[in-house]
Amino acid sequence: MKKITIAIDGFSSTGKSTLAKQLAKKLHYIYVDTGAMYRAVTLFAMKAGFVENGKIDKNPLIGSLDDINLKFVFNADLGYAEMYLNEENVEKEIRTMSVSKNVSQVSEIEEVRKKLVAMQQLMGTDKGIVMDGRDIGTVVFPDAEFKIFMTASPEKRAVRRYKELLDRGEDVKYADILENVQKRDYIDSNREFSPLRKANDAIEFDNSDLGLEDQFQRMYEHALRIINKEA
Ligand code: C5P
Repeated sequence: MKKITIAIDGFSSTGKSTLAKQLAKKLHYIYVDTGAMYRAVTLFAMKAGFVENGKIDKNPLIGSLDDINLKFVFNADLGYAEMYLNEENVEKEIRTMSVSKNVSQVSEIEEVRKKLVAMQQLMGTDKGIVMDGRDIGTVVFPDAEFKIFMTASPEKRAVRRYKELLDRGEDVKYADILENVQKRDYIDSNREFSPLRKANDAIEFDNSDLGLEDQFQRMYEHALRIINKEA
């Protein structure tokens, strides 16, 4: 069967990664969570002292980009790849609220985007990949055969994220999460370099009122139609 590239973009906490993981597993494709890469660069910046009161000290971060080594390592027990920053497993740390609060500011920096986009394009040279993020269908893989743009109301997304963080034992307030989701939506959609937008040829998918199984079935069938057409 011919392999294709599946690009999934959308606002934060729309369930992109859940859908991407399911599709990758079923199709035996590689899954890449590009948000994890931006989160890892943000964690690096925070640990290096380049972030103070929500302000990023851009120049030293840009100067250190060559010292940031990112890789995904597959964890067979979990069934997905975890993010490593300079040989350290940072999968848990990059999902905390403190990283979420700074990640959109770091992701606005053109040099950061250039480095990460080049890495992402390299990962996708052989196709057979499901990648999720904000600019996958527009910038990273403009020729992807299947592009999905996911949306859901900010409130629904904040509830999902709230539950996730509570499950992980973080002490968080719903109001803070809603504010973070809305703030990231705004910065991600309004930044100068590769802002979040729906590619013209992407299908828009609002999953506010859909269960996970339903959403997966619909998108899987859609993917199969495209794969069979390409074959
Ligand atoms: O997908 P996730 O919510 O983990 O992404 C975290 C942040 O990383 C986003 O809010 C966005 O600022 C940034 N990002 C991006 N481009 C991508 C993926 C994520 O700018 N392709």
